[in-house]
Amino acid sequence: MAKRDYYEVLGVAKNSSADEIKKAYHKLALKHHPDRNPGDREAEERFKEAAEAYGVLQDADKRRNYDQFGHEGSNFGSAGFSNVEDIFSAFSDIFGGSVFGDMFGGGRGSGRSRGRRGASLRCTITLDFAEVAETVEKVITLRRNEGCETCDGTGAKPGTKPSKCPQCSGAGVVMTSAGFFSMRSACPRCQGRGEIITDACGKCGGSGRIAREREITIKIPPGIEDGMTLRVGGEGEAGENGAPHGDLLCDVQIRPHPLFKRAGADVYLVLPVGFAQAALGATVEVPTLKGRTEFKISRGTQSGQVLRMRGEGFPKLDGYGRGDQLIEIAIEVPQKLTKDQEKLLREFAETEEQNISPERKSFLDKVKKMFSK
Ligand SMILES: [Zn+2]
Ligand SMILES: [Zn+2]
Repeated sequence: MAKRDYYEVLGVAKNSSADEIKKAYHKLALKHHPDRNPGDREAEERFKEAAEAYGVLQDADKRRNYDQFGHEGSNFGSAGFSNVEDIFSAFSDIFGGSVFGDMFGGGRGSGRSRGRRGASLRCTITLDFAEVAETVEKVITLRRNEGCETCDGTGAKPGTKPSKCPQCSGAGVVMTSAGFFSMRSACPRCQGRGEIITDACGKCGGSGRIAREREITIKIPPGIEDGMTLRVGGEGEAGENGAPHGDLLCDVQIRPHPLFKRAGADVYLVLPVGFAQAALGATVEVPTLKGRTEFKISRGTQSGQVLRMRGEGFPKLDGYGRGDQLIEIAIEVPQKLTKDQEKLLREFAETEEQNISPERKSFLDKVKKMFSK
């Protein structure tokens, strides 16, 4: 399933050194650390994601596999990090450990994992341009694997228990010798779980999971931009043997607007204005994200001038305030004139000959200078 590239997660180049990878990870881990972001699921997910990426990239072999085969490759062989608990216990030195046992429901200390965390799912959400000016909720329907209720996700027939794997005697790992070396690798029989199912649950056939259609309500943070991906923690596929769900990644698409354009949190609007309105000043009606409002154009407004309506843009994604609405004035020159209008304009033009406007005067002066040598 679509998973972010590990290098991208850590924000490092493909050829970065082990040291650079370590530094990048430490920085992210501190930033998204659950202790610093209590109750923030997004931060928790980022934290896990970074830990997973680091778990692979800090290990030369796994990194090579990953470079060659991608996410599939990083799951190969040797006692890998099969779930987050493992990652936390392996890197607890950075944080002093302890907190994570509570956070993820304990389960550490058994020496082997309960099963892999579920895979991520992906969906696309299409929103209207102005809709994201406020928090919106969208309901999407998706089909995903969920834990089987009959066997509680274990895959074993109710009343029976998985039995100890005969190949690895429950250790989850086996030693294989390769030349002079012996290597630890995940037990092929039980995939590192240490146990196998002898009596399969009749409902799920021993997989512990059942496909279901679900409606999920997704809260969209205001100000989200086209092309961004929203991560909804824990709404992906169920994990193996009751392990946590993966995430749901929602790609956000925003429909273009016939009048507005967007640049970050700012909204941009081109406002056609009549020549006389711009010269004399006027109050005109302009659309905003929230509705219509009156907008004052001062006397002598020029074509191309950009005026700002503060705080009329989108909420900023960092949570601090809103962007502005920028209005570019486009003065429209009439293409057809009535007899009366033409007469008035000709009279106006005559006065213009005697009363030259400042920009035009400065232009004419420059032209004069250009040819006076
Ligand atoms: Zn079952
Ligand atoms: Zn085994």
